[in-house]
Amino acid sequence: MTLETPDNDIEKIAELIRGGDFKTVSRAIRRVEDQDEGSEQLLDALWPGVGKAHRIGVTGPPGVGKSTFTRRLLQKFRGQGRTVGVVAVDPTSHISGGAVFGDRLRMDDLAMDPGVFIRSMGTRGSIGGLAYRATEVADVLDASGKDIIIFETVGVGQIELDITMAADTIIVLTMPGAGDAVQAMKSGLMEVGDIFIVNKSDLSGAEQMKSIYESVLRICGEKSGWHRPALTANSLSGDGIEAALRLVDSHRKFLQESGLLMEKRRHHEKNRIERIVNQRIADEFWGKERMESLDNALDTTEKRISPYAIAEWLFKM
Ligand code: GDP
Repeated sequence: MTLETPDNDIEKIAELIRGGDFKTVSRAIRRVEDQDEGSEQLLDALWPGVGKAHRIGVTGPPGVGKSTFTRRLLQKFRGQGRTVGVVAVDPTSHISGGAVFGDRLRMDDLAMDPGVFIRSMGTRGSIGGLAYRATEVADVLDASGKDIIIFETVGVGQIELDITMAADTIIVLTMPGAGDAVQAMKSGLMEVGDIFIVNKSDLSGAEQMKSIYESVLRICGEKSGWHRPALTANSLSGDGIEAALRLVDSHRKFLQESGLLMEKRRHHEKNRIERIVNQRIADEFWGKERMESLDNALDTTEKRISPYAIAEWLFKM
């Protein structure tokens, strides 16, 4: 999508993305986010190259150290020569003003590294479909050859969970004094997590917190055969990050060898196809004529007619 590449030359654009061309990747991501005309064809063209990257979700309550931890992890991956894409999502950006982690990261040296691509996604008007669009953005990064993709979200709400659950490996961050494991269980984080990290190990109570997590995880049992570890880390000094990275890699290996990776991806693909089909049915159904009929029905009924009856009538149109 340089001057020589018009926006509708999908094959050429896909080729540039596969080659990792920064500007083209950047523009393609914007198109996907905006659900621009042609973005579906582009994702379609990229599909054969999607699925190689290891997708990691980093989640946990605000202030726990997700940005700091992710930055450390990213540095470690880069130190090993692995390329990284970051999709940072803030569903509350319309409230917070959009100062998400990705924006903070962009300001430092990592942003200058061609082996790193950072994308911050806010709501840009609509929260609906945000998790879905984050997956598509990751697909573009995946097709562009990134070895690792990190999803980072700001909180622990449903959208954040949806985004995180699209990852292969989910890291749940906590810290001393951030409530106990029972609270984490209530937020649903214990169920989704594959690796649990008690960040801020320099603060007192970190080891104790880790023990509590270990006990709860023992009671919860293995997750599809994976023994879920808990460890402490200090994201300021970097202590424990190496161990976290090794666990991430072991989890990936476990997923591959057990066939769970294929199973997980099949499940996500099925969800996506259902969503695409549902959207298409809705688009076809809600033509101009039906929209007008609906407005008329609502405007002209003296007698109150139930939504069910109106829907039935619309179907019969
Ligand atoms: P996020 O909101 O979860 O992304 O958290 P941040 O990464 O922004 O970190 C919140 C605060 O905790 C910042 O002031 C960090 O410097 C600090 N922080 C992060 N990791 C550690 C750590 O391991 N130890 C200590 N003492 N502070 C940390």
